[in-house]
Parts: sequence; C-alpha cells; structure tokens
Amino acid sequence: MRNIIIIGSGPAGWTAALYAARADLAPLLFEGLEPGGQLTTTTDVENFPGFPKGVLGPELMELFAAQAKRFGTDVIREDVKRLTVNKDGTFTVTAAGNDEQAKTVILSMGATARRLGLESEKAFYGKGVSACATCDGFFFKGKDVIVVGGGDSAMEEANFLTRFAASVTIVHRRDAFRASKIMQERTMKNPKIKVIWNSEVAEIMGVLAGKVTGVKLHSTVDGSIADMPIDGVFAAIGHEPNSGLVKGLLDLDEKGYVKVTPGTSKTKVPGLFACGDLQDPHYRQAVTAAGTGCMAALDAEKYLASRE
Ligand code: NAP
Repeated sequence: MRNIIIIGSGPAGWTAALYAARADLAPLLFEGLEPGGQLTTTTDVENFPGFPKGVLGPELMELFAAQAKRFGTDVIREDVKRLTVNKDGTFTVTAAGNDEQAKTVILSMGATARRLGLESEKAFYGKGVSACATCDGFFFKGKDVIVVGGGDSAMEEANFLTRFAASVTIVHRRDAFRASKIMQERTMKNPKIKVIWNSEVAEIMGVLAGKVTGVKLHSTVDGSIADMPIDGVFAAIGHEPNSGLVKGLLDLDEKGYVKVTPGTSKTKVPGLFACGDLQDPHYRQAVTAAGTGCMAALDAEKYLASRE
C-alpha cells in the first residue's frame, strides 16, 4: 500500500511528487503515455520564475522530473484507466492491467487542447491541421498558415510559426484579442503576421490524400463566406480539463474542471486531492499549477498524519 499515488506529470504532478518525496512518503507517479503535460508542446517559457533567460518547455519538464526523482519518486509510464475508492477509504489505481493501492491519490491530469469540431478538421488532422505549432511548425517551411484563436496560445503559436512559415494569419472570431497586452504587442509588431477579425473557420479544404489547400471563413458579422487558400491550420482555442477518470466520482463544474474546497486541493472524497489545470479554469499557468501541486502534497501529508 502506497502513501501517495500521483496521476499526471505536468508541473502540478511533479511538484506534488517532489514535496511528497522530500516528506519521505515515497510517492508513485503515473506519468501517462505522453508525459510532461502541456509544456512539452511549447517552446520558450519566459514567465517561469528562476529562469531569467527563459527555458524551453520540454527542458523545464525534464528538470521538474529529475528533481522529483532525486528524492525517490517512483514513476510508471502508463495511462491510468480506472480509479476506485475502496471500502476502507483507500484507493485502487488501475493502469494497463496493473493495480496499485494507495492511502491517498493526487490528481494532476491537466488539460488538453480544444479542437474546432469540424469533420474536415478530423480528416486533415496531422495532414495540414494541428493544435501544436512546436510539434508541427517545422513542416510548414515557406508555407502560408493560419492560427485560429485570440488568446495567449494563439499569439504564441503565431509568433513561433513565423520562424518557418512564409506568412501567418490569425483568424479570430471577435474584433479584440483576449491575450495579454505584451503578447498582443509582440504579435502586432511581427511583420509576418496578419489578422483577420470577426471570422471563424467553417470548413477546411484539401485533397483527400492529405494536403490542406484552403479554408472557408465565415464572417461572424454578416454571415458571408469567403475562400482563403492556405497550406496549414493551427487551432489555438483553449483547453479541456482531463477529468474523465473522475466523472461521476467527483463534482465537476460546467466545463469539466474538478471542484475543490477553495484555498485547498481537497475534493469531496477524503484522501483524494486535485491540483493543476485539472481544477483551475482561471490561471492555468505552469507556476500556479506547480503551486497547487505543492498544496496537494501538503494536504495529503496532513491527511495521512491525521489517519495514523
Ligand atoms: P484562452 O485564453 O481560453 O483563449 C482561447 C481563444 O480561442 C479565445 O480567444 C477564444 O475566443 C477562442 N476560441 C475558443 N473556442 C473557439 C472556437 N470554437 N472557434 C474559434 N475560436 C475559439 O486559451 P489559451 O490562449 O490557450 O490560454 C489559456 C491560458 O493559458 C490563459 O490563462 C493564458 O494566459 C495562458 N497562456 C499563457 C501563455 C504565456 O504567458 N506565455 C501562453 C499560452 C497560454 P474568444 O476570445 O472570443 O472567447
């Protein structure tokens, strides 16, 4: 029986593991088949404190992992399939046929990029349509691409893509971005970036063998439709919390974020804690995720002490 099992390997999960390991609680962390969380699909992180020159997202996650492992965190690279609350209040975590038991569980499954929801998006996914400029930008050297969205992610993706693409056009459904001022300014100053306001992608067109050739843009002002030739479509329209594992077990808000007691990581199930983007519809920053990971480890430690 483990003291603590942590599910998820973003900044929240690794920070929870670091604190639990340093408290001598020998945590086990399930890092999933795609470890590292959202920072592994980003490039320069300039706003994580302690890195005055910035740090690459994947590198930052390797540092998080190394620090947690140094103090004895055990790691399993599997996706967790099921979480069961046992009759005695302990937990069974099932992954790829293996059952692990624990007195407490910390949930840190994070969030995943949202899709546009078009059939044509599905058909061309990975063949000209992407939700990750860091992963796929390289394939668009000298090409023309669009980025859909008006938040910080869209600004970041658009700027990053100018390293490769001949042109980047941001398509946004309103007439103002919701991105932070500094990101907006950087974007508007970039000569390779244009913006099409008040428009949504209604259809992605291409040849079925797997090549995008254009999009149909729908005006959110007058409903008109315009064709735009393009080689690539990057969606940067926000994220969905990965709370499927605890649906029915925990209270979720209307967007699927796990509800915790405000100011803590406590869920409605004693011994079950949630941290990071899984429970945070507001801030969703690496540093806030890490902070709540710390809170979850301290809450779990206190819970374990109270049961001794
Ligand atoms: P976000 O702030 O929720 O922005 C999503 C954008 O996509 C919004 O502009 C939204 O339009 C648009 N959108 C949503 N659904 C759409 C749809 N179906 N079709 C077309 N457009 C759609 O998400 P985010 O940009 O991923 O940022 C999430 C959080 O991470 C934020 O707190 C952000 O500050 C943070 N972040 C920070 C950095 C950084 O500081 N380096 C980088 C990335 C993200 P509306 O504006 O009309 O709602």
